[in-house]
Amino acid sequence: MDKPSLTYPFDDLPAPGTTRVIAPGIKWLQMPLPFALDHINLYLLEDGDGWVLVDTGIRGDKTRDFWLQIFDNELDGKPITRVIATHMHPDHLGQAGWLCRHFNAPLLMSRTEYFYARTFSNENARVLPPEAIQFYERGGIPEPILAEIRSRGWGGFSNNVEPLPIGYHRLIDNQVLTIGGRQWRVVTGSGHSPEHVCLYCDELDVLISGDQVLPRITSNVSVNANEPEEDPLHYWLDSHHKFLALLPDTAFVLPSHNRPFYGLHARLIYLIDHHEDRMLACEEKCVTPQTAHDLLPVMFSRELDSFQIMLALGECIAHLHCLMGRGRLERFLDQDGRYRYRSIDPSLPARADPEGHDSPDLAPLMV
Ligand SMILES: [Zn+2]
Repeated sequence: MDKPSLTYPFDDLPAPGTTRVIAPGIKWLQMPLPFALDHINLYLLEDGDGWVLVDTGIRGDKTRDFWLQIFDNELDGKPITRVIATHMHPDHLGQAGWLCRHFNAPLLMSRTEYFYARTFSNENARVLPPEAIQFYERGGIPEPILAEIRSRGWGGFSNNVEPLPIGYHRLIDNQVLTIGGRQWRVVTGSGHSPEHVCLYCDELDVLISGDQVLPRITSNVSVNANEPEEDPLHYWLDSHHKFLALLPDTAFVLPSHNRPFYGLHARLIYLIDHHEDRMLACEEKCVTPQTAHDLLPVMFSRELDSFQIMLALGECIAHLHCLMGRGRLERFLDQDGRYRYRSIDPSLPARADPEGHDSPDLAPLMV
């Protein structure tokens, strides 16, 4: 697959604690993240006497200190009057509670994302629950790696997310918000998170894409123990087709990671092809029945540590479930209690040693 040619109008990044105007009434800023993926982009939209903020950074003193600099130097003396979170992941939602309380501003989210976040915030279990152990066992994770996963425990969402406001303003697909006298339409996608909000302004031809469309890394699309039978890749691909049909190729895309870019349609098509290619590789390998863990080298060409294996397994199962949904794979429990996946198409040639398919970086697994 050829990489799509995207263009990036801004070479230099805004230093943490500063902002950069990138479109009329839109400021771009970055906050650091303590992961391999080391930053997140946030956007401030001028709205008369205040600012509407899209995404907030992860919980922690470091982010908060940069926010205090921004308050002092970058808001022209005006408050943040609305806080929008594109989705529930801690790098996006982590500081929302603190910012909302600081400015007495409402939090705007989709319903599914808000209540998911509230649920995870209240989850205090520290021991890996039996359902999660079964999920990894059925995925074929070998015992020594499972022991490492077990030792890491469960939960921890609230370590990275400030307590949330107990109320929120609901965002819903196709809703129109007026910000700075301009109309911004809510466009939702699913697969990376269940009801991810993007915002599109026709007048500016600007799309704030969150993690729904990223230019250089692929967003994590995973099955996990909370919803072990889900088919998120199906929703993810559907969302890409929806965005292709709904949004113009000319849009200036403001993503949550990497730099703002042009080339929306090329990127969407590349991502669809990328996942289709990985599914085909899995299907071909499954001419002889495989566990999800067996298939990780087909999906990821790098060595993975136990933490990455845990994340990669969820991605792999997402591809397998999508194939099952299409009637291309069947699944059965083997005598060791592991799910094995078998290709249904008898015309597929058996490939003893399929070449590894390039995975982008494993950083996207952290998004
Ligand atoms: Zn995310």
